[in-house]
Amino acid sequence: MAETYDVAIIGSGPGGYAAAFRAAKYGLKTALIEKDPKLGGTCLHVGCIPTKALLFQAEVYEHFKRAEELGITCKGFSYDWKKMLARKQAVVDKHARGLAGLVKKNKVESLTGFGRLKGAGVIEVEAGGNKTEVRARNIILATGSTAHLLPGIEEDGERILTNVSVLELKEVPKSMIVIGAGAVGVEFASIYKTFGTEVTILEMLPRAVPLEDEDISAELERAFKKRGIQVETNARVESVKKSAKGVSVSYKDAGGKEQTLAAETVLVAVGRRPNTDGIGLEKTKAKLERGYVQVNEWMETAEPGLYAVGDIVAALPQLAHAASWEAFAAVGKIAGKNPTPVRKERIPNCTYCEPQVASVGLTEKQARAAGHKVKIGKFPFLANSKATILGQHEGFIKVVAEEEYGELLGVHIIGPQATEAIAEATVALQLEATVDDLMAVIHAHPTLWEAMADAVASVPGLTTNI
Ligand code: NAD
Repeated sequence: MAETYDVAIIGSGPGGYAAAFRAAKYGLKTALIEKDPKLGGTCLHVGCIPTKALLFQAEVYEHFKRAEELGITCKGFSYDWKKMLARKQAVVDKHARGLAGLVKKNKVESLTGFGRLKGAGVIEVEAGGNKTEVRARNIILATGSTAHLLPGIEEDGERILTNVSVLELKEVPKSMIVIGAGAVGVEFASIYKTFGTEVTILEMLPRAVPLEDEDISAELERAFKKRGIQVETNARVESVKKSAKGVSVSYKDAGGKEQTLAAETVLVAVGRRPNTDGIGLEKTKAKLERGYVQVNEWMETAEPGLYAVGDIVAALPQLAHAASWEAFAAVGKIAGKNPTPVRKERIPNCTYCEPQVASVGLTEKQARAAGHKVKIGKFPFLANSKATILGQHEGFIKVVAEEEYGELLGVHIIGPQATEAIAEATVALQLEATVDDLMAVIHAHPTLWEAMADAVASVPGLTTNI
């Protein structure tokens, strides 16, 4: 007779492992099923962690380029790409070991194999031709996503790349066309430009980082142009062909004219598709929407006892921290606690390109479209003394506030350490803070975070503090 768990989770990314540890904390008998021998999923192995490690290394290299300006003589410096990749891998490996240790420590049963739903409360785990059955009172699907490729385009790992192969290039390419100006596209454009690659981004929508506030997109495009990264918007890529020396990319430009662009490599960064095929969803009552699983705010599917979290879920962002938060909601519900429901507008977005972009809540356009009367505050890093000390003046903080009570509806940052500074805004939105509340917070000087106080103070007529 197969063992029965309180919770069985398929997929060990930030959705899966967060669910497993929270379930273990509640004393639930928990199994974590993962097809890959290493736990951690996309985020740890080929997503957030390796990409941000390389971005940090690129940032340090960028500082070396500015050594003279800082009064430091640093002649003939260079980078060693092999060592760069090795350091990136060391960061990943350290955390992979840590994660494996935590699974043991939390007494989570780790099962290696492909998990497939077989019926209510039953999962078949297949590894090396062997099939075993796992029974669970509750099942959480956290199977993640895979890079989406345009029709007729196949990744070859050398010239036609996705977020996975672009992390393992043997050398830095001379040129790269990046298809898509979403998070993946702008982050890798930033990395490779720093190391000398000629980068062109082709984005089919009218602006880069199209999910962000319009002012942020305009500022990022301006900053990228200054860095020598070409961004062509309203450019829809239709085909990619391999050529003798690299690739040839055909696209329709803003005027509808066919254009062709050549480069050594192309990175396809046009979004991700959910890993929901072949996991037995057809044997359940769960409903799908274009391949994504429909859930309520507790991550419950239409099948009793079956939950879904992370990149496979419909209508929520594909972000590691969103996946973890969704996992807490699901496990809280399973354990009979009173978890906070998942609210999309409380999930911060962080893009680690240079300059960084981070936001939480509604954009100005979304706030107006939702019927709010809004007031806007904006403060440039140009006027922030810490930004001057760092020599990083790009960008600003934009605050979207509701007119009547001054409640913060959204905060949008582009500039130095934006992905850290967004923490304050995320807390503020969670606490339903007003402009006045934030004006009562003392911001240390000199810090980049002071710009938040200045941005809030610049919302016209909404504070009694000045
Ligand atoms: P994305 O959906 O964020 O961006 C893809 C972009 O490609 C869009 O702007 C889209 O308009 C464009 N596009 C699509 N088809 C095109 C075509 N034919 N020609 C030109 N442009 C085209 O997807 P992504 O950047 O691949 O990222 C995937 C997911 O992973 C996203 O949800 C993203 O938020 C997440 N992610 C997050 C981070 C982070 O938080 N720092 C980093 C990487 C990825």
